[in-house]
Amino acid sequence: MPFRLSCVALFLCCCTPTFATEQDEQLEESPAIELALPCQSADEPCVTDPKTPSANDLKEIVLPAEKNSAAEIPITELENAPAEPVWETITLLGNTLPINSKTTIKWYSGHISGGFDLATPVVVIHGKEPGPTVCLTAAVHGDEVNGVEIARRVVQNIKSEDLKGTLISVPVVNMDGLWRKDRYMSDRRDLNRAFPGDINGSTASRVAYSLFNNIISHCDSLIDLHSGSMYRENITQLRVDLTIPAVAEMAKQFGAVSVLQSSAPSGSLRGSATKVGIPTVVMEVGGPFTINIALIETAVKALRSYLSSIDILPHSFFWSSPQPTFYASQWLRSQQGGILINKVALGEKVNKGELLGKISNPVNDQVEILFAPFDAVVLGRAEDQFVSAGYAVYNLGKRSNIKELEQQGSESKKNVVKQNAQEVGLTITDQEATETTSPSEQQ
Ligand SMILES: [Zn+2]
Repeated sequence: MPFRLSCVALFLCCCTPTFATEQDEQLEESPAIELALPCQSADEPCVTDPKTPSANDLKEIVLPAEKNSAAEIPITELENAPAEPVWETITLLGNTLPINSKTTIKWYSGHISGGFDLATPVVVIHGKEPGPTVCLTAAVHGDEVNGVEIARRVVQNIKSEDLKGTLISVPVVNMDGLWRKDRYMSDRRDLNRAFPGDINGSTASRVAYSLFNNIISHCDSLIDLHSGSMYRENITQLRVDLTIPAVAEMAKQFGAVSVLQSSAPSGSLRGSATKVGIPTVVMEVGGPFTINIALIETAVKALRSYLSSIDILPHSFFWSSPQPTFYASQWLRSQQGGILINKVALGEKVNKGELLGKISNPVNDQVEILFAPFDAVVLGRAEDQFVSAGYAVYNLGKRSNIKELEQQGSESKKNVVKQNAQEVGLTITDQEATETTSPSEQQ
């Protein structure tokens, strides 16, 4: 895993994207035996806390200890222990990047249509001081350009000398789709259903494999930037699987942003990265093809709040105390086809029974009136357009709390497991379904 911090042998510590303050206190107060903290799991990266004792601290703490303790380690070895975590160059895509640098390097996915060998830019800010590696990806869907501008603004405003850790940004993952103004790859597949990829698979699967193994594998956490699909737009929001503790913890660090419980679809970058121990959230912003500056500004603010909260950027930031708003969300679908005319704005609060929009059949003049089925916030909506019956028109959010959403997420996962089992003629118990979807397995 990618943390580039050399650990003193005795001081392995379990870790999350944030540094564990409880353990800091133990390290400062306790005798040697309590200093040896095991990793939580082999999948998780280990990080040496910035407060790791110096060689002098070690001598002071360890020398008076009893037999069979860390004091048995020869003093000469302790004297040779590094005084501070070693912060080194980073090697990515064959480039060795120095400490305190901001560099644009090239990623060749190798599968541009027609066999051309075109590079995709990757911006790497390797900070002056140690810390985690945070990754940003945008335009996995080629028609979603808000994320490209968000990544540009975030990267542009960070100086390497201010950064404790590393930021890796891939502002246009699906260069092929972006050029053609197409959500999908040239093989008509959805790149965001092809992860973690297959080196011998479809075009989308090969690009996914290359991205995942050459770049994503270096990340300690990942924010994947998206926009609504098919002429739908979303307020700036996080899509998060709150049943996974590391992801739920990550979601709390973005300040006053909307957070929706959402299990990651199979083959998504979010689901695949989280599965290998890289907590990942999707940030949805606006609609496809267009740039929405107001929503982009909110997204940039939320991202900078995250970077400040995990101490990769200095704590000079504004959104550190306001809390996110959690929502259970539900799509409202049209019952007939026709021309949709919205009567509510994105982000508007509506009461149960309030008018949302109308769909008029252009031939027989029949009109469907869409009402809010409960008190809600319009988290997403289709733009005015032709729609067919069954089209997802409004994504309505109901205020909730993280515990309720976690519970709902777990129940919904259990139901999916049971349904899948039924389809192949198996009957499984509630307990078996729970075990199959337990957060620890998903990590
Ligand atoms: Zn997308």
